Amino acid sequence: MKYSTGLPKMHLARRDFLKCGLYGGAGLLLLRELGNRAFSAETAAGQAEVPPLPYAENALEPYTSARTMSFHYGKHHKAYAEKLRALVKGTPLADKSVEEVIRLTAAKAGQAEIFNNAAQFWNHSFFWKCMRPDGGGKPAGKLAQMIDQSFGDFESFKKQFISAAVAQFGSGWTWLVLDGEKVKIMPAANADNPMAHGLKAILTVDVWEHAYYLDYENRRKDFVTAWLEHLINWDFAAQEVGA
Ligand code: MN
Repeated sequence: MKYSTGLPKMHLARRDFLKCGLYGGAGLLLLRELGNRAFSAETAAGQAEVPPLPYAENALEPYTSARTMSFHYGKHHKAYAEKLRALVKGTPLADKSVEEVIRLTAAKAGQAEIFNNAAQFWNHSFFWKCMRPDGGGKPAGKLAQMIDQSFGDFESFKKQFISAAVAQFGSGWTWLVLDGEKVKIMPAANADNPMAHGLKAILTVDVWEHAYYLDYENRRKDFVTAWLEHLINWDFAAQEVGA
């Protein structure tokens, strides 16, 4: 899986792996730094593999447990990658990027299964970067101004985002998206994704029950509130708007 990091792509994975091994703590800092860089999944759908998590599975505790992460990252996300690879095998979509596959199959008759698995693969790869240990707080700079312009102030944004996440009926995602020069909240059912609507993703929270049920049972609002207050990665979001 190739991720856009601003460094030469071909050498990134091996070099970072070596750095992590050689320098220990410095490697963890590097992983954290990588987690804050702008996101792009350029891999071909036929070779989709889950990307490395930008933190340890237990790093988001107590707000998301290692047990949740082991199922969510280790089983759910991995299964979407496996299904996507199997579905596009031997078809012209196998060589297209996951992002192209999402755009090409969105709302197309007979393509729902490919769209769902490609989008769920992408959504989770993006979602891991929307969180970090010691996250939360408020956005700064250009993104903070955009949020104030769209929602009035940060507290109003927070209330509206939590309301949208709680109101999502059944499985889905709550996205913060860039629509021209404005930021907006986009509720999304099942695998739906801003790219399928010509919008750019800035942040997302997964509101499928598998994202929170082991830790919060049916209390989705508690999960989303904790996510906003303790896990959200505003530095990553700022990069996504070019701030
Ligand atoms: Mn999920």
